[in-house]
Amino acid sequence: MNVTVFGTGYVGLVQGAILSEVGHHVVCVDVDADKVEQLKLGIIPIYEPGLEAIVKENHAAGRLEFTTDAVAAIQHGQVQFVAVGTPPDEDGSADLTYVLNVAATIGEHMERDQVIVNKSTVPVGSADKVRAAVEKVLKRRGRSDISFDVVSNPEFLKEGSAVADCQKPDRIIIGTDCAASIDIMRELYAPFNRNHDKVIVMDVKSAELTKYAANCMLATKISFMNEMANLAELLGADIEAVRQGIGSDPRIGYHFIYPGVGYGGSCFPKDLQALIHTANSIDFDAKLLKAVESRNKEQKTTLFQKINQHFNAQLKGKTFAIWGLSFKPNTDDMRDAPSRVLMEALWSAGAKVQAYDPEAMEETQRIYGNREYLTLCGTKEAALKNTDALIIVTEWQNFRAPDFELIKALLSEPTIFDGRNLYEPNRMAAKGFNYYSVGRANLP
Ligand code: NAD
Repeated sequence: MNVTVFGTGYVGLVQGAILSEVGHHVVCVDVDADKVEQLKLGIIPIYEPGLEAIVKENHAAGRLEFTTDAVAAIQHGQVQFVAVGTPPDEDGSADLTYVLNVAATIGEHMERDQVIVNKSTVPVGSADKVRAAVEKVLKRRGRSDISFDVVSNPEFLKEGSAVADCQKPDRIIIGTDCAASIDIMRELYAPFNRNHDKVIVMDVKSAELTKYAANCMLATKISFMNEMANLAELLGADIEAVRQGIGSDPRIGYHFIYPGVGYGGSCFPKDLQALIHTANSIDFDAKLLKAVESRNKEQKTTLFQKINQHFNAQLKGKTFAIWGLSFKPNTDDMRDAPSRVLMEALWSAGAKVQAYDPEAMEETQRIYGNREYLTLCGTKEAALKNTDALIIVTEWQNFRAPDFELIKALLSEPTIFDGRNLYEPNRMAAKGFNYYSVGRANLP
């Protein structure tokens, strides 16, 4: 099938790549000319395990093309995917500017019947807005004879395992009431739908809401666990024992109930805000969602509070080693990362940071530039030199069993603030560390 994908970000690029790998002929179009040039050269602008090889192989085979030429791209595809960003507007609502721009461009240049697929995360009612935008242009062109459908096909990939998630999706949501579109979407996804039928067909609005409901549910699990962790700490309980205790109940399960330093990334914070905004717009008070958001904002400050308390609010002139900058492991994404809240709080208090992250340092450099207060180090050990304490923000695999003797030797005092509960408090005490973690007895 000939497919066009608008947007070569995390979603569009991965989607385009895996569709081309099964044999579809995909043209990815982006307005960012630098990105397109890089992709043509096989340089992948994001870090996503497994992606580079698939992009290079299918680009070389001619099944995956990159262009800034929207006109040619639209003419190529029988299906037009919209996978552009939907960032939060100032009031928290999802900004549909990019999506509607793409809709107008498609309307401007489509010459035959089309299926337009919303892959971007968009509020309930957006498919109608896309339809109206396309219809308006077609009418002006005098081409109301061209028919099209707008399908909602939300994406559920997780950054860090995006390729695997798209190759083996848990579900493929298709929101439309048009039988012909369902048929085309089923054919397109058939290579990913062999083990059992993962396609769930529903009306457009339900499909749009499903995406928000999924992310809000996941964010709720995290904020719930963080609330329990804060309680556990005050009550002298151990959240890790509690986590195992509740996870063993199959109705709860072990997935996604880790306490920590709050959720970040490009999706949970913005999608939660967008759904709260949608609720407000229809005079519905989304009490639970607001609480989830407010717990998360506070949670992002917990490490700083512990650090500040340990050093009796005397952080000026201190230097801290930070391990982990990306909002979660296996990605270079720094959007809304808890590390940013922490670093900015440390800088405001007059402290310096020496940081290491396996993938996100380039992105950190891009965001903060050359700051006197931030040194990015080539290894996790280099980040420790001449610092007053180690702070762990992201749970990358190679932070799990470090050389503690070396850490002790490099730090000016043996203190670790662990935002991901990677180590055992008793063992850390036995090794002579002041060890602070989340929701467990802190052992200074
Ligand atoms: P992104 O910011 O990484 O990429 C968006 C891309 O769209 C950019 O390269 C941008 O240049 C391009 N673009 C903007 N306007 C364009 C236009 N008119 N024509 C062509 N390209 C254009 O965004 P992303 O993370 O891939 O997210 C895209 C959408 O998917 C968002 O709605 C997001 O909420 C949703 N989503 C993201 C994830 C995720 O993990 N990142 C997961 C599921 C859903």
